[in-house]
Amino acid sequence: MAYLTYTDKDFALYAVSLFTYGLLLSFALSSVALIVVSWSALAFLLAVFFAKHGAAWDAKVPGVLLRGVAHYPLDLLHDLRKSAVALSPLILCYLVALVGEGLLGSSLSGSIWSKPFPFEYLFWGHLALVTAFRTYILVDHLRKSAHVQSVLEETSWRRHFGDVSVRVHILQAYITGVLTNLSLLIGPLIFYKLSQPTVLREVILLVTYPVLLFVIFCTKSVFSKSVETDFFRFFGEDHERAHKSRFQFTLFHGQHHDAIPSALIASDGVGFLEGVQKTWTRLHALQSVSLFMLLRGLCANYVDIVGHQYIPGVFPYCKLSLHLKNHHMAHHMGSLLPLRLGPMDLPYAPLDTQQGYDLDNVRTRWFTASIAQHERADEAVLQNYLQPSQNSVADRSSALLKTWRALTSF
Ligand SMILES: [Zn+2]
Ligand SMILES: [Zn+2]
Repeated sequence: MAYLTYTDKDFALYAVSLFTYGLLLSFALSSVALIVVSWSALAFLLAVFFAKHGAAWDAKVPGVLLRGVAHYPLDLLHDLRKSAVALSPLILCYLVALVGEGLLGSSLSGSIWSKPFPFEYLFWGHLALVTAFRTYILVDHLRKSAHVQSVLEETSWRRHFGDVSVRVHILQAYITGVLTNLSLLIGPLIFYKLSQPTVLREVILLVTYPVLLFVIFCTKSVFSKSVETDFFRFFGEDHERAHKSRFQFTLFHGQHHDAIPSALIASDGVGFLEGVQKTWTRLHALQSVSLFMLLRGLCANYVDIVGHQYIPGVFPYCKLSLHLKNHHMAHHMGSLLPLRLGPMDLPYAPLDTQQGYDLDNVRTRWFTASIAQHERADEAVLQNYLQPSQNSVADRSSALLKTWRALTSF
């Protein structure tokens, strides 16, 4: 059985998820204004849930919670263990930075190198840039709200509108996206506050990690093959677990599917607690702060935001998904498959077709027809979107692509 949408019986689990996330936000953020805005946003989401799905008591909820919480430490250990090989360069570079700090610290005492690195500025800069882009998208969705509703009424989303205005759905998607963005930042933020990185540590990390990654992927080492294999396998496994377990779906991943399938919702394809968990199990905080907050953070957000626009005719439009053969839209339109994000011509896409995903299906045919109607698109590109990939799992992508994937996924 797969969980793809919330029901009225999930109200209590959803409320627990939002409340837990609110506590984490309150602990991580030092700005009282941001904490108040975050709690107000969470209260708004709970009210929207009630308006859309209603609320009903389910006697299974305590059992789901108790079993899920009891098993959770094992899930975390499992995630950390399976990522261990991929994360080893990160750990190595962090150790090098700590040793460098230890060796040079006393001789550089009092200089700029020993001063605390101002990570808060990067946090605010990242949040401001991503939120500004998301707000621009929000304005276009609100301006075309009637169009948004009429397009979505052609899909399975017509069943989820309820009595709630389309503008509320759009606002829910926007708030979901902003809170998801925050979920990917607060784990590292807590770590930086506790570990107080110095300028010297930041510079060592900024130089060593990209250089080590570049060397690894260019030398086609055993390590790089291992990371690639793990990536193909684990990405789908993690996502499948998020939809097969009621605890994982309702508390961790579900927010990513409860809002309309628009660019507004996206930030790394995760729900709130899932985002926090992801940054911990992938040890994101060990990266250089600048690399994480600016390069990786902005790139990953941009790709994920634009790659989640499945309402043709509204900014940022669906051309990127069309040209990259990104079939994730089917997953947001009620199909469990494909479980892996991104273009179907990438080497890992056949893992989804092997699980039974057919690229030419009722959802993707609607998508291409709707793009043809509301955006200009080449007929050959539209047809290619529905064709099976020519690649196999064994195909190797370019070193550049591998590097990009590694930077945006680990
Ligand atoms: Zn999903
Ligand atoms: Zn998604």
